[in-house]
Amino acid sequence: MQAPDTARVPEPVLKAGVEPGPVLDAVVIGAGQAGLATSYFLRGRGIDHLVLDANPQPGGAWQHRWASLTMRDVHGVSDLPGSSAPDGSDRAANLVVPDYFDGYERWHHLPVVRPVRVDRVDSEGGLLVVHAGERVWRTRTLVNATGTWTRPFVPYYPGAASFRGEQVHTARYPAAEHFRGRRVLVVGGGASAVQHLGELAPVTDTLWVTRRPPVWREDDFDSAAGLAAVTAVEDRVRRGLPPASVVSVTGLLVRPQEQEAARLGAYDRLPMFERIEPDGVRWADGRFERVDAIIWATGFRPAVDHLAPLGLRSSSGGIALVPVPGNVQAATTAARDPRVQLVGYGPSASTLGVSRAGRQAALAVSRHLGSVAA
Ligand code: FAD
Repeated sequence: MQAPDTARVPEPVLKAGVEPGPVLDAVVIGAGQAGLATSYFLRGRGIDHLVLDANPQPGGAWQHRWASLTMRDVHGVSDLPGSSAPDGSDRAANLVVPDYFDGYERWHHLPVVRPVRVDRVDSEGGLLVVHAGERVWRTRTLVNATGTWTRPFVPYYPGAASFRGEQVHTARYPAAEHFRGRRVLVVGGGASAVQHLGELAPVTDTLWVTRRPPVWREDDFDSAAGLAAVTAVEDRVRRGLPPASVVSVTGLLVRPQEQEAARLGAYDRLPMFERIEPDGVRWADGRFERVDAIIWATGFRPAVDHLAPLGLRSSSGGIALVPVPGNVQAATTAARDPRVQLVGYGPSASTLGVSRAGRQAALAVSRHLGSVAA
């Protein structure tokens, strides 16, 4: 494997009193699976670009996943274009996937600059201006690939601030051992909740609450089911609605490693409580359960706040994407600004969708640059 081609990565341009640097053809924000796939295809098309990533190390969100999440537990990390992803194993996903991304960046000489946290993107004189603190890049097109990990979502319930125990979101979930001997309430009806309960129930007392009764799946997730799920998300995004969580369209699966928790009754779910009290939670009918810790497995939101100055959101709250006929995972172009692509947003928000979307985004960038030059 060769060393990274750092010579191709231009220094950022300082704002104050410095001549603006060259205008780039494209800037990609985010170096997770979505950003790397897009960079690969941009490079293949000979498009001058940079990838700006907030993390200090390669690996996107995977470097932050909890240590007990092994490659066997994840739902499949798909191949980055032109390479093979590591197979399932008992090694921690937060080591294996970052290693894979690191090697990929080096091997393909992808022009990643890190750590750079973009705080806003403006439009000025026909160009997009990317700001990260005092640093600024000007570009003709933008690919946003910032994922969701940096925006954990915790719903509001009255009394949450009064709770004397520990509250933690999935994004900061430590490990089951941390909760041994404590009564733990897991909130949320997604795959993360099922996984947390799967490892918590054998070591400590658990309770599970979800807003809606969970929809269980018996079988593994085949490609027809995958397509149906992605089509449902694409339909929402096309209508400008915020993307639905994947599980709302895929259903939940209890895997072999969660059978013990199932046997212990961990998946006998309760409806949502009404309020949180200092020592537990209370339902509308007066029922009270004492708990020592609450795990909010309540999902994430797209990390797109830095795009707000571009006015991409529809009145329904989501960023509408232009549909690509016959290819639901390939919708990437913002309906309100064809200079902007979103990869890993809506229908391409899984490792399985991002390669296809990255290819499409690079094509859309190329077409836009061609139309501007013509
Ligand atoms: P990320 O991997 O999150 O990468 C985004 C990058 O953008 C990060 O490096 C971040 O630092 C950077 N960034 C964010 N904001 C900024 C900014 N303002 N400026 C600069 N950089 C920024 N999908 C699967 O297919 N299989 C699974 O098994 C699976 N398991 C999951 C488990 C959990 C707990 C969660 C939350 C999600 C899981 N997913 C899984 C979905 C998963 O998030 C996506 O599949 C995939 O990892 C997302 O890749 P990405 O490149 O879009 O985002």
